[in-house]
Amino acid sequence: MPRASAVSPHNLCDPPPMNSNGHADIVLTGGAIQTMDSARSWARALAIKGEGIQAVGTEKDIAPLIGPRTRVVDLEDRLVVPGFQDVHVHPVSSGVDRLRCDLTGSIGLPRYLEIIDTYAAAHPDAQWILGAGWSMDDFPGGIPRREDLDRIVPDRPVFLPSRDGHTGWVNTRALEIAGITRETPDPPDGRIERDERGEAVGALQEGAQNLVVDRIPRDTQEDLAAGLLEGQRYLHSLGITAWQDAIVTPDIFDAYLAAAGRGDLTARVVGALWWDRERGDEQIPELVERRSRGSVGRFRATSVKMMQDGVLENFTGAVIDPYLDRDGRTTDKRGISFIDPERLPGYVTQLDALDFQVHFHAIGDRAVREALDAIEAAQRANGRTDGRHHIAHIQLIHPDDVPRFGALGVVANAQPYWAVLEGQMRNLTIPFLGPERSTWQYPFRSLRRSGAVLAMGSDWAVSTANPLVEIEVAVNRVSDLSRDDEPFLPDERLDLIDGLAAFTSGSAYVNHLDAETGTLEPGKLADLAVIDRNIFTRDAGPIGEARVLLTLVGGKAVYEDPALET
Ligand SMILES: [Zn+2]
Repeated sequence: MPRASAVSPHNLCDPPPMNSNGHADIVLTGGAIQTMDSARSWARALAIKGEGIQAVGTEKDIAPLIGPRTRVVDLEDRLVVPGFQDVHVHPVSSGVDRLRCDLTGSIGLPRYLEIIDTYAAAHPDAQWILGAGWSMDDFPGGIPRREDLDRIVPDRPVFLPSRDGHTGWVNTRALEIAGITRETPDPPDGRIERDERGEAVGALQEGAQNLVVDRIPRDTQEDLAAGLLEGQRYLHSLGITAWQDAIVTPDIFDAYLAAAGRGDLTARVVGALWWDRERGDEQIPELVERRSRGSVGRFRATSVKMMQDGVLENFTGAVIDPYLDRDGRTTDKRGISFIDPERLPGYVTQLDALDFQVHFHAIGDRAVREALDAIEAAQRANGRTDGRHHIAHIQLIHPDDVPRFGALGVVANAQPYWAVLEGQMRNLTIPFLGPERSTWQYPFRSLRRSGAVLAMGSDWAVSTANPLVEIEVAVNRVSDLSRDDEPFLPDERLDLIDGLAAFTSGSAYVNHLDAETGTLEPGKLADLAVIDRNIFTRDAGPIGEARVLLTLVGGKAVYEDPALET
């Protein structure tokens, strides 16, 4: 239902508006506007003045705000939503990778080798062949081999992390440079995949990647600056106006500060400062120091990222009951708690008392429980703060822990694109969890029903950064790549409005940006996206096929498709 709304007396304009006499700078009219306010109100037109939303209402309400210098966009029944906010994404490293050997979206070993070969030939001066994005389900058992790389790049080292970043594919030259031999022990937080003779096969799991990574010349600030701008450009083209960077290392921190200082950072960004799991609470003063320097332009470094486990596919995800083997027998593998669970509550209590937000990576049910326990301990010590702590990934949640999210006010930070029954799930996950635990995966509707705030993120470049595709999967639990498949645990499907809320108001809440963004209401900032069709209508086709035509941040176009005005 269209909703009439009084013209707001608010004026957020700074610098002063181009239009005097109360006329709008931009009017979007004649479309379906989902405001995502608490009543989920619909409107037909919206006026923007300076950085802010001046008014929202019917075409008639807004018409008087159109002056001679107002840009009027006829929406032609397209959809307007608040700008998407991705609360778990790696735009800098993904942007850098996009500019290097980019293996994303290319399916199968022959195609990977073709891309690597072409890239190596085109970059004869590159000391290392770097890139990322291959998918585990293109390799038997999820394990790539060095011989394939040796055939095309024998002389220079190659290091290519998988699309989820948990496995590194290397050639023989890289193993030599890292000094990895039959005698090299596995590090405590990772594993060197070996053949029957104990020789490394060319796949390094989790922390074992660092044996090679430590030898790679670090990305320069120039690389990172270019990567950040490439990542930002791409995310804006998908309607994303704000995000939370899930791993802000000191280098990436400097890249954000530099971009924000130059005025190049058009997105609103919360940085999650990386918690070095090799160290303890002696690093907290450094985090405080970085936060105090980390408020420049649209960047704020107010979150701390704690990575509590790995992933299930390589048995590094921390589980309560052991993994099964391929024949369904119990093993002694329970995954790895990266941060000592005895110490974690103490760390989180200190961070919470310092008004940091904690952003967890937790995949297995034990890691999720350890994160919840730590937040509960912090609340016992500090009372309920405004930290809005969140647990990302939440693949496997023990049913007893589902209601704890709502009860403790912990935000469920979902990556909905993973909740599908594809090869990795069928072959590398379900057999090793067994039938009962397999049904505990990605319980988004249960979380919502039990009172949790849901927020969403892509984990790009692990998976697509396109929120519309991710929302489609949240709603259907079927991959956009094979839409006729059976849905994965269909009881956990979300309603479209809830998926949209998670990517807008829910994520704005996590980013502490909900007072200014996340809904389209007078007085808020004009951060929004225009989508080429109304995905709420029956004949709109698959949600993931909709495209963004215009993205505004603070009333300024940061992406515009020429199709908008044709
Ligand atoms: Zn991530």
